[in-house]
Amino acid sequence: MSLHNLDNLYRQTIMSYAQYPHHFRQMLGQETYHIQKYNPTCGDIIDLAFDIVDDKVTDIHFYGDGCVISKASASMMSDLVSGKTRAQATLLVTEFSKMMRGEAADVKSLGEPQILAGVTKFPARIKCATLAWHALDELLVIKDDRRCDDGNR
Ligand code: ZN
Repeated sequence: MSLHNLDNLYRQTIMSYAQYPHHFRQMLGQETYHIQKYNPTCGDIIDLAFDIVDDKVTDIHFYGDGCVISKASASMMSDLVSGKTRAQATLLVTEFSKMMRGEAADVKSLGEPQILAGVTKFPARIKCATLAWHALDELLVIKDDRRCDDGNR
């Protein structure tokens, strides 16, 4: 799909996020929490990593190869959840998922990523937009499990 059918302003913003992605850098193999996700319908691949300090998402970054939408979404998501608590980040994933399903969502809390709502007009590309968010969601859950194993936090 070309993005020509997206509203012009949205398209420009998405393109610029994809071209100059924020928090985009290679994994060094020493990330505290790291996950790789793949979207077979488009071929997008994303590595997402972050640390949790004082219950806040810190040092979030991603790497990978994907379409404009997947990269822009990962870029915006990383901006948004950086510095948020785990609970806040989980809530944002929920709101974003609702928005992408076309359900009523607290889009104001989503900030910039709300422009990705335009992608819902292209069902085949929704997975591109949600890939990074699924990665974040899974990683937050993994972090929970480890906390239980630690037993002392
Ligand atoms: Zn894609």
